[in-house]
Amino acid sequence: MTRRLVGVSNRTAAGGPKAGGLAVALWDALVQRKGLWFGWSGEVNEQLRRGVELFEEEGVEFAVTDLTDKEHDGYYLGYANRSLWPVLHYRVDLANFDEEEYSCYRDVNRRFAKLLFPRLRDDDLVWIHDYHFFPMAQDLRDLGWTGKTGFFLHVPFPPPEIFKSVPNHRALTMGMCASDVIGFQTVSDRDNFAKYCVSELKAEQASPELLQLNGREIRIRAYPIGIDAKEFERIAEEEEARNATEMINPFLGDSRALILGVDRMDYSKGIPNRFQAVGRLLDNEPELHGKIAYTQIAPPSREKVEEYQELREQLDTLAGRINGDYGDLDWIPIRYLARSYGREQLAGLYRLARVALVTPLHDGMNLVAKEFVAAQNPEDPGVLVLSQFAGAAEQLKDGALLVNPHDIANMADTIGEALSMPLSERKRRFEKLSASVFGQDIAWWRETFLADLDPTIDAAETIA
Ligand code: UDP
Repeated sequence: MTRRLVGVSNRTAAGGPKAGGLAVALWDALVQRKGLWFGWSGEVNEQLRRGVELFEEEGVEFAVTDLTDKEHDGYYLGYANRSLWPVLHYRVDLANFDEEEYSCYRDVNRRFAKLLFPRLRDDDLVWIHDYHFFPMAQDLRDLGWTGKTGFFLHVPFPPPEIFKSVPNHRALTMGMCASDVIGFQTVSDRDNFAKYCVSELKAEQASPELLQLNGREIRIRAYPIGIDAKEFERIAEEEEARNATEMINPFLGDSRALILGVDRMDYSKGIPNRFQAVGRLLDNEPELHGKIAYTQIAPPSREKVEEYQELREQLDTLAGRINGDYGDLDWIPIRYLARSYGREQLAGLYRLARVALVTPLHDGMNLVAKEFVAAQNPEDPGVLVLSQFAGAAEQLKDGALLVNPHDIANMADTIGEALSMPLSERKRRFEKLSASVFGQDIAWWRETFLADLDPTIDAAETIA
């Protein structure tokens, strides 16, 4: 009999579109198994109003709880986004550690575990997601939970020297180690974690994928998250996608090549470096003036956090300067759009783009890189310029042009190389990219993880 799956994530996809990596992956698995999805309702109240709210959508049970104002500030905006997010993205310099925020984060994890525990059945598979819930597996164990528990980290795990800058790092990693399976986006993240556990927790690493700690075995493995590639390929040819390309066509004219960037406005995405690289390219190659159109979609996020406000100002200034320096009456080099677009529109733009710039300073995976590949026309594919520090680089390094986003001169040259790449090489690279993106898609990711969590599952069968 299939065991029930219980997904735990900060945000659930209740009521909304099941879009985005985590939402799609969990939703499909939960529909198949008639599972339970537990997490934050998305609502914030002055005081705690109730325990959990229960409802059902398409056979999936949801159990969600509100956050208080204090919890939202301390656990979510504070500890998760101002302490953990920067450290996990190698930016200790931007991290702000506050004891009260940490204590709030711990309290929320414990409160959530207390709400979830009574709803669990012995043979459930619990799958906890991301850095919001590092200690949750241990909190469940403390309440008496003995069942199978998995944890997946969607963001990078940095080298121990960096992670150790978090004042309470041991409590967090010990919390993770209460799981039976811990998943990472890349082999490099997994190895960083193993190295940390061996040096800081005195764990033994029996093999690259097995840790032994306090008499328990923990499976650690890279499960690079994928996308629903077939679905993306399909929507890239649909009407809404075509409408988006028609809207942008007047700016491309007959001959301008579209260079596209799509990123949440986050300092980990390296958008200022990218703007500088485009400026450098225009410096180096005046013949490209008027011939390229760089469109950067950058929906603002976490606007209450100061570092994000500063980034916004930096981007406004840089784009303004480059457009002022190089633009002309009939040409704006950078079209920088601080708003979000639907995935149908994005799919159309991806397909039209000659070059995609995916150049984060650090990124867990980066789904935009994979979506770009899935949306291409195989007869005339665009070129992916990809940061070596995106998780996706581990899988896509042979087909993409890899760059170091800190090396502005090299990035400028590489964008030039991508623009002039002959069709035969574009096709050759695209074949490698699409083999990975279509082969290791979202179903592969989910079923590979779940097969490790519950060895009675046959991954090959469920994917088929
Ligand atoms: N996205 C979107 N509309 C936008 C910009 C982005 O729907 O205007 C989606 C994009 O298609 C992708 C996701 O947001 O699925 C971003 O995921 P990624 O892994 O690239 O970065 P994250 O934001 O999770 O750090």
